[in-house]
Amino acid sequence: MGEFDLIARYFTRPVRRAALGVGDDCALLAALAPGMRLAVSSDMLVQGRHFFAGTDARRLGHKALAVNLSDLAACGARPLAFTLALALPNIDAAWLEDFAAGLLALADAHDCELVGGDTTQGPLNICITVMGEVPAGQALLRSGAQPGDDIYVSGTLGDARLALEALQGHIHLAPGVLAGAQQRLEAPTPRVALGQALRGVATSALDVSDGLLGDLGHILRASGVGACIDTSVTTKLIAANACGASAGALLDLDLLRQCTLAGGDDYELAFTAAPAARASVAAAAHASATPVTRIGTIESTPGLRLIDAHGLPLVQRYASFDHFA
Ligand code: ADP
Ligand code: MG
Repeated sequence: MGEFDLIARYFTRPVRRAALGVGDDCALLAALAPGMRLAVSSDMLVQGRHFFAGTDARRLGHKALAVNLSDLAACGARPLAFTLALALPNIDAAWLEDFAAGLLALADAHDCELVGGDTTQGPLNICITVMGEVPAGQALLRSGAQPGDDIYVSGTLGDARLALEALQGHIHLAPGVLAGAQQRLEAPTPRVALGQALRGVATSALDVSDGLLGDLGHILRASGVGACIDTSVTTKLIAANACGASAGALLDLDLLRQCTLAGGDDYELAFTAAPAARASVAAAAHASATPVTRIGTIESTPGLRLIDAHGLPLVQRYASFDHFA
């Protein structure tokens, strides 16, 4: 099988929304309706850096698109289309079959069309560029947080990092706990419906990819504010905790804090909203069937302060992930 057979077989499907899809020099997309903005984002997954060699191909296909959809979610945009730039060490039909299945299942679930890409030989590398739409002036940005706003996070935090620690042999997890955490690491859930439901409700938002505290820091800097986070709340957001006392007993508090505050690969939304909008936040969470938890407050004093269950300051530093650190 050559390059063009590969593209035809795994990545070419009848166009739906696009005027022209895979197969020509460019894809052609219909213009947006008046008053809409095109939201565009790219995310690359590099073997050895973002995932282990031998990661399940179906999950890898899912994750490559999920991390991109997560960026659209963080802006409150609706997914439209994406391109796929793929470097493959060789043509492995079974791998491609699974990769495409995971990728296209998530694409279909979000009605996001694969319209083109590039395929080359090289160390396994997956780069997706996703496009979505959002009404002008309604995109959720990092810069709108106000002193007094509540801070929220969607879903669960820290399980991806917990899985990573176990897969790297730093800790031991019971098989059932590892399976659940590994699912979060390898097949994250982009919070696309929640992001759209938060338009006009959240004052700022982003997706948590490198760790809660580091990513929240982007909102604080962009908004010129500070924050206080209740770690007794965030520490409970790890799903692995719910797996029973025998499993929970293995997770000491410092590890829980490390995973939930500075884990990475969560792909949850962190966002702020005025206290007066609490009912609207709850309605957005309900409408999108996505749990959200209030974890702290935006303050006018710059910097990020952590408190424990007794409201006392926590002095430990939890560093988020930085590819060049
Ligand atoms: P060109 O040489 O004109 O850039 P290519 O030969 O690289 O085009 O690709 C042929 C067609 O297949 C193009 O429409 C391109 O967008 C599409 N394509 C290539 N690789 C992929 C891929 N991995 N997924 C989806 N479409 C792809
Ligand atoms: Mg060409």
